[in-house]
Amino acid sequence: MDYILALDQGTTSSRAMVFDQGGRVVELAQREFRQIFPRPGWVEHDPVEIWTTQLAVAREALSRLPAGARIAALGLTNQRETTVLWERRSGRPLANAIVWQDRRTAERCDHLRAGGWADLIQEKTGLQLDAYFSATKLQWLLDTVPGARDLAERGELAFGTIDSWLIWNLTGGSVHATDASNASRTLLFNLHTLQWDEELLTLFDIPRSVLPPVRPSSGILGHTHKALFGVSLPIAGVAGDQQAATFGQACFAPGMAKNTYGTGCFMLMNTGTAAVTSRNRLLSTVGWQGPQGQTAYCLEGSVFMAGATIQWLRDGLQIIKSAAEVEALAASVPDTGDVYLVPAFAGLGAPDWDGHARGTLVGLTRGTTRAHIARAALEAIALQVADLFGAMERDAGMPLREMRVDGGACRNNLLMQMQADFLGVPVVRPQITETTALGAAYLAGLATGFWRDAGEITAQWAAQRRFEPQMPAAARRARLARWRQAVERARGWTIGP
Ligand code: ADP
Repeated sequence: MDYILALDQGTTSSRAMVFDQGGRVVELAQREFRQIFPRPGWVEHDPVEIWTTQLAVAREALSRLPAGARIAALGLTNQRETTVLWERRSGRPLANAIVWQDRRTAERCDHLRAGGWADLIQEKTGLQLDAYFSATKLQWLLDTVPGARDLAERGELAFGTIDSWLIWNLTGGSVHATDASNASRTLLFNLHTLQWDEELLTLFDIPRSVLPPVRPSSGILGHTHKALFGVSLPIAGVAGDQQAATFGQACFAPGMAKNTYGTGCFMLMNTGTAAVTSRNRLLSTVGWQGPQGQTAYCLEGSVFMAGATIQWLRDGLQIIKSAAEVEALAASVPDTGDVYLVPAFAGLGAPDWDGHARGTLVGLTRGTTRAHIARAALEAIALQVADLFGAMERDAGMPLREMRVDGGACRNNLLMQMQADFLGVPVVRPQITETTALGAAYLAGLATGFWRDAGEITAQWAAQRRFEPQMPAAARRARLARWRQAVERARGWTIGP
């Protein structure tokens, strides 16, 4: 039997999965690795540990396959934006990887913003000028690690996001490459020309010599070194985690969207073959690039506090013992009794973008119980997603007809029903919710003929459950308006004495 091996290098763990022709998971191995917090606001990973855990789980998953099993191709998906700089000759990283969450370059971004660069950067890259993305992290490494800039000027250093770092190691140091979806998260890549942008390289003071060539997300870009797995596997699919999940959800047509319910939510919508410039500070990004360079673009938005709101009920308020309990507790009351929880614990993202907003609970009466608060917390997740969804529809200028869902909290049926009600479109949960790894597998399998075409994958994608909106449109509008009143109360909360 033939299989695809998918590597899913995430922020907290490295995972490997083996998929069969039906898109089913047949093996899974996972290992966590260290989170390094050298100072407040700094987050690092050891690149060597990322590689060794990733290699170990790949070997572990492969070792459990039956004798005679053959791997047709390898797909790779990864935590995005995290920045690694290494020496080409030795393969040795010059420093720890700077993780996407790291805020050390926020001031540098403020400085550039004051210089009036934000609009040009958004126009060229589709992104916001923010420390989250790779450019200022790479600049920081070049400026801070002793000798780095000299080595870079001499062409002796390689930069990469985690995909590039893993490709380099998987190929025994023979391939330095990235894919267009990962490149589009660096602030250095022009979304329209699909090239590294000379003006941005100058702005961030990045020597071109450190950059990897940008390759299609689906296509063979190298082979694994024979010593690693005993055979040499084609590396045939690469995409950033959220883009891979969108691909794994088979959102191939413009207007199709997926939302992942984890700690936060990540919503991506396929906008077709041209990048949309957001007026709501959503991100425009490369979704993926096919073997002939055909590029699908996406709009992307996130909700900061989704599953995290449920964690707060558990750990902060201690009104539930486990996240799974929230559903029964919330279902024990017919409604929230007009209570709204705005979980702006760390400010509000799209479409409000208010860093000063703080969490707010409004509408409390003597009759309010923990069940009402639990229900309001679930509604808050669905309502924030509805706000994002509205912004995305306005930016894209096209209606979303349904939303495909995945992530840990999508198993909450009550939440999914609330979501369908507040969106006014069906919410569809697939049979396979491991969509990130599956997307990487699909990209690799399409490049190698393991799957014939996108049509075959579309046919393979199967709903496990579909949640139809049941709330009348007038009631939905009234509830969304009431929620906006609650959000207004959470906004602009200046920190007191
Ligand atoms: P991440 O990848 O961000 O770590 P996961 O996709 O593993 O997140 O999802 C875990 C999140 O989902 C946690 O924040 C948890 O509180 C939330 N969660 C898990 N089960 C449920 C549930 N049944 N109802 C609501 N939220 C849940």
